[in-house]
Amino acid sequence: MIAGGGFGGFYAARTLERVLPAHSARVTLVSDVNFLLYTPLLPGAAAGTLEPRHVVVPLREQLRRTRLRLGRVLGAEPQRDRLLVELPDGERGELRYDQLVVALGSVSRMPDVPGLSEHALGFKDLADAIALRNRVIAMLEAAEACEDPRERDACLTFVFVGAGYAGVEGLAELQDFMKDVIDLYPRCRTHGMRWLLVEARPRVMPEIAPNLAAFAERELRGRGIDTRTNTTVVEVTRQSLTLSDGETVGARTVVWTAGVRPHPVVAQLGLPLADGGRIEVDATMRVQGQRNVWALGDAAAVPDPARKGQACPPTAQHAIRQGRLLARNVAAELGAGGRVRPFGYRTLGVFVDLGRHQAVASTMVLRWRGFPAWFLARSYHLANMPGHKRRMRLVIDWTVALLFDRDTAELGEL
Ligand SMILES: Cc1cc2nc3c(=O)[nH]c(=O)nc-3n(C[C@H](O)[C@H](O)[C@H](O)COP(=O)(O)OP(=O)(O)OC[C@H]3O[C@@H](n4cnc5c(N)ncnc54)[C@H](O)[C@@H]3O)c2cc1C
Repeated sequence: MIAGGGFGGFYAARTLERVLPAHSARVTLVSDVNFLLYTPLLPGAAAGTLEPRHVVVPLREQLRRTRLRLGRVLGAEPQRDRLLVELPDGERGELRYDQLVVALGSVSRMPDVPGLSEHALGFKDLADAIALRNRVIAMLEAAEACEDPRERDACLTFVFVGAGYAGVEGLAELQDFMKDVIDLYPRCRTHGMRWLLVEARPRVMPEIAPNLAAFAERELRGRGIDTRTNTTVVEVTRQSLTLSDGETVGARTVVWTAGVRPHPVVAQLGLPLADGGRIEVDATMRVQGQRNVWALGDAAAVPDPARKGQACPPTAQHAIRQGRLLARNVAAELGAGGRVRPFGYRTLGVFVDLGRHQAVASTMVLRWRGFPAWFLARSYHLANMPGHKRRMRLVIDWTVALLFDRDTAELGEL
């Protein structure tokens, strides 16, 4: 039984299908949605270079031997081997398991900052990406019609709080989008736009090596993006945000991407939790004190082989590798060959997308920037995107984006 159909859950299910002999076991995946959201491509969907539907992978298309149960996990009783779920029709029920894999991911961490939950936008799923793109276009329209220069300034100022993957890539893609479309708005073009990236920690992109993060930050600064590290947000209003250094910035768009915490349901599973609320697991991803429960991805504190004493960072790269190994460990436990092994992945390469034809990348000993890095990142995502039909759709979207101008229609809430 796999709870959660994101990167960790999907790759665990797919690997189980491959390593378990046919008809030897029944694999069930419980998820609240019937697709895997390929989050690294979400900024492209927000900026309109990718069709939103092309950045998701329908689970039924890719998992032929796994039973998909659409439903929301509400909790678990590990002592009785039961998972508690709510089905789409509102019925509640119990699912019995022999082996349970918890892959329920994370949600945005929302601290108690006044005005934050009322006025800031999130950037975690497809609905957020569409809402963000609509907001940027709506702000251009509002600024163009606005007579007051201060009000126009607030419309054309965009602040991202949190400089992880979501913040850096989301900001960079949207700034690139604005750069391309602002010519259609003569007043806005004359006025100019302002982009600000705020990060509480001393550097951007804590998930990747410091030298590549510094490289990405230089690229952002080179594009006129104001990055503020060691800075927090103390208040957000409809028109502005106030920073810990005392500055108040007039901005109608504040996007909150400052860190994640495990999905709240993780605390309802009756499993031991480490600091930060992630599930406590050993190096093989078996939950501490449990015989037949495993956990991975953003929801679990899997010991990081690259940084002694620390948990793996919450990235898709880690969740994918963990999913593959965890499936082999479960298969070994069921007697289908091999032995239970510890997680041993070290990051071989990192890509940070910075908009159309721009990226920074680090692969083994080489660092890349600009178009070659963007091309490498595209190739990596193409290789990783499950299913050749999805891959074809991505290639078509990227080719169309190369040949034609951006689409500036604001479609409202789809
Ligand atoms: C905008 C953005 C960009 C990112 N870019 C990158 C990147 O470039 N590279 C990178 O390595 N990482 C990136 N990440 C991080 C990456 O997405 C996560 O680390 C990864 O998705 C974690 O995988 P997971 O399986 O633990 O969780 P998820 O992929 O989030 O999967 C969790 C699944 O559980 C389901 N679920 C949740 N609650 C329930 C419930 N109660 N019942 C049933 N199902 C439930 C969810 O619908 C989801 O399908 C990015 C994240 C974001 C938000």
